[in-house]
Amino acid sequence: MLSEAQIDRSLGSMIGMACGDALGAGYEFQPAFGKQFPVSMIGGGLGDFAKGEWTDDTSMAIVIAQALAESQGELSDAALDYMVRTWAEWALTAPDVGNQTRAVLSSAQSLAQADGRTEISWQDAMKSSELVHQRTGRSGGNGSLMRTAPVALAFHEHDEHETYEAAVRVSELTHFDIEAGEACGLWTVAIQHAIHTGELDLRRGLKLLESDRASVWSRRIESAELGTPAQFTQNGWVVEALQSAWCSISTTSNGRPSEHLVAALEAAVRGGQDTDTVAAIAGSLIGAAYGKAAIPTQWQTSIHGWPGLRAKELEELSLALTSH
Ligand SMILES: [Mg+2]
Repeated sequence: MLSEAQIDRSLGSMIGMACGDALGAGYEFQPAFGKQFPVSMIGGGLGDFAKGEWTDDTSMAIVIAQALAESQGELSDAALDYMVRTWAEWALTAPDVGNQTRAVLSSAQSLAQADGRTEISWQDAMKSSELVHQRTGRSGGNGSLMRTAPVALAFHEHDEHETYEAAVRVSELTHFDIEAGEACGLWTVAIQHAIHTGELDLRRGLKLLESDRASVWSRRIESAELGTPAQFTQNGWVVEALQSAWCSISTTSNGRPSEHLVAALEAAVRGGQDTDTVAAIAGSLIGAAYGKAAIPTQWQTSIHGWPGLRAKELEELSLALTSH
């Protein structure tokens, strides 16, 4: 069972993700900008979002949370089917579905139809994610790294290897590239560790990788710590999204937890390009280290979004994930 402090940190992961997402929503695909310009939940952006409204990042994570709450934390066939079916339904009207995710979901629909089925299965999605990879030659978008928080919460009692593997499986539903899976595994293990201990340690999961892959990621983590978020201009790519998010956290660590959290998410947004996703990724980890208590109340009262939820319902969903 989680302690009261650990429960607050698990809530901080989900709320931190949603706050980063809503904070970055109004700046998406703009170039980097300096500290002289304020960052706030201005809304607008690609989906013409309301102030405080979260985007696809949090919406897709909510679906994972719903599936794992229903399955009592088990990554069952039913849970995986629920994820891909609900994403497909959401994608029909969502204004901002990522290109890769949209291509995979639509190809999965074709596979199911060709087979005489009306609903897609997780196997359709996985097969489609490979087909999209073969067709386009790449599938390493940041769209699976933005939605890792619920897996970390649901797997809070599992060992790190199992948590890593679960993160890879959920990533693979839409992202075939092994680097997307590795990034999700590393980030999810770091969130789990942050919830347990309050520590920020992205290297925690490196021991779970083969040594050559661990070296590759170790160099990437180090270069993130020595850089600035704006340097990672290709942050639509899962590797630079991870680096930009980690850079935002690791280069702003002066001050109290609440100050660090705000500084990190603002830095993620100021880095430009895929601002909402980088800030959502950063928020899911730094929120897990410092807890909901460190997140500005004003942010918590502002956030809302698909499917008609606010912070209170996100909290209920998070509690359902950690109470089994
Ligand atoms: Mg988004």
